[in-house]
Amino acid sequence: MVTFLGAGPGDPELITVKGAKALATADVVVYAGSLVNPALLGLCRDGCAVYNSAELTLEQVLDILIRAHEAGRQAVRLHTGDPSLYGAIREQMDALKGRNVPYTIIPGVSSFSGAAAAVEGEYTLPGVSQSVIITRLAGRTPVPAGEELLRLAGHGCTMVIFLSAGMLDRVQAELLAGAYRETTPAALVYKATWPEEKVLRCPLGRLAETGREHGVTHTALVLVGEFLGDHYERSKLYDPSFTTGFREGSL
Ligand code: SAH
Repeated sequence: MVTFLGAGPGDPELITVKGAKALATADVVVYAGSLVNPALLGLCRDGCAVYNSAELTLEQVLDILIRAHEAGRQAVRLHTGDPSLYGAIREQMDALKGRNVPYTIIPGVSSFSGAAAAVEGEYTLPGVSQSVIITRLAGRTPVPAGEELLRLAGHGCTMVIFLSAGMLDRVQAELLAGAYRETTPAALVYKATWPEEKVLRCPLGRLAETGREHGVTHTALVLVGEFLGDHYERSKLYDPSFTTGFREGSL
């Protein structure tokens, strides 16, 4: 059996209980060395074979996972955050399926959740935004037509931008060409939940400059939207006059 496992955003205590158990019983672990906190490997048992996928191709990773399974061993493929976001797991799962290797998926805490905690933010603030767009700028991996940042920025809702900290001039320009203004609040969150976490808040008009000032070029998320500002409406759910399935409204 192969387990695709979300490691969480960095803090080794942010792996799930189920994930920690899977690591503790694994015989073979292939971890995404560029971003997974190596402290998590401390959960592995003595004698567990550990490989860093940053140095491997897809074919080499698959070879390790398939061999482990065929030898009756438990293999864990450890991805950063939650594997469903920019995790490149689909191609691995399909290859395993083609070889009749069973697998399971254990989700993880994504860095976008870690970043929300870091800014003490609520992405879906009533009266401000009820949608979150998770996206990236095109880099070596292109984004499909219609998903250009510039177009998505037309909504003006909360946005969380992955994999783009090295291109902040473009991020800023495309967001400004959409529904956001120079004064729209933004934040650059570097290494959310790691000991070296940095939260850099700035108006969108100063995003690229802020990144340059602090030397942030990777392992960061760009958050943008009025959810980072001071104005919102209180929730209906906890409004005294609002009747829910669990509580009678009082007014
Ligand atoms: N599956 C991961 C994302 C992998 S893509 C997840 O759910 O978080 C890698 C990108 O994620 C990085 O370029 C960066 O934009 C972001 N990222 C990953 N960990 C991060 C962290 N701790 N803090 C800020 N951004 C992070």
